Amino acid sequence: MLQIKDISFSYNVNKVIELNSLQVNLGKTLAVIGESGSGKSTLLKLIYGQYDLPKGEIFWKDTQILGPAFNLVIGYDFMKYVAQEFELMPYITVQETIGQYLSSFYKEKKQKRIEELLKIVELTNFSQTKIQFLSGGQKQRVALAKALAKEPEILLLDEPFSHIDNFKKQSLRRSLFSYLKQKKITSIVATHDKDDVLGFADNMLVLHKGKQLDYNTPQDLYHNPKHPLIASFFGEYNIIDNKIVYAHQIKVIDKSELKAKVKNSYFKGHYFLIEAELDEEKIVFTSEYKLDNERSVNLKIKT
Ligand code: ADP
Ligand code: MG
Repeated sequence: MLQIKDISFSYNVNKVIELNSLQVNLGKTLAVIGESGSGKSTLLKLIYGQYDLPKGEIFWKDTQILGPAFNLVIGYDFMKYVAQEFELMPYITVQETIGQYLSSFYKEKKQKRIEELLKIVELTNFSQTKIQFLSGGQKQRVALAKALAKEPEILLLDEPFSHIDNFKKQSLRRSLFSYLKQKKITSIVATHDKDDVLGFADNMLVLHKGKQLDYNTPQDLYHNPKHPLIASFFGEYNIIDNKIVYAHQIKVIDKSELKAKVKNSYFKGHYFLIEAELDEEKIVFTSEYKLDNERSVNLKIKT
């Protein structure tokens, strides 16, 4: 398992990461969520051993992760890290890129493995394409396949689907995470997009200004968001009587004491998001139908 013990880190004067203890068990997926600048990338880099820790320790099984002061070459064989800004060599093909770290001793085995990886990242038809001719999203998928090539024990992914368009994202996420589960690869995924991790993460760490705001399963965080920041990760919400109420928890009914005036309806696909005024405060809720502006509605909160 991965163990983080009492670490703190800063690039200059300000603390960027301060965490007491954190553990990721073998084969599990931890999602690290938080606003931009909350320290997600820095935490992944610390786990990777990119920086020296002024305080605390990080272990993978019995191996202590050490930074550049102790390692000539950053990183460990058992761990792969796909950075937010990944670098690939432009003039070689997708197949060559993925095969770079695979042994060429058994040619057939190597070829089979490359094909398996291309299938996972859905790039089978691009094996002979040079990296320079790929889109950003395709490059990101190559970077993922390259990281998986040697079956790491632990995989660190920083905003892994950020460049990939929505057409591909959904199936790619499922295919990647089911591969990780099948191979029992432990993974840590930093993201600000709930769809990247909700259906896949075993646990979630919520970072705020480098500190743990909460840690729990996706379900628990969703049903019991202790902080507006956490609710905002899941979707639109209101604060009513000091309670967090998601937009979909408010419904229009025939009669109620709770009366609001509709200000705007936004088409969202299978529902409309309605902006309304309740006691001069703005609220949002969902409705199956578009509602006329300035119409008065009776609401029910169903939490
Ligand atoms: P996130 O990935 O959650 O957006 P980061 O870990 O990239 O957050 O950044 C956390 C904080 O550390 C930010 O305030 C950022 O400006 C700062 N930071 C990140 N990288 C560096 C760096 N190399 N040198 C100095 N400050 C940095
Ligand atoms: Mg980042």
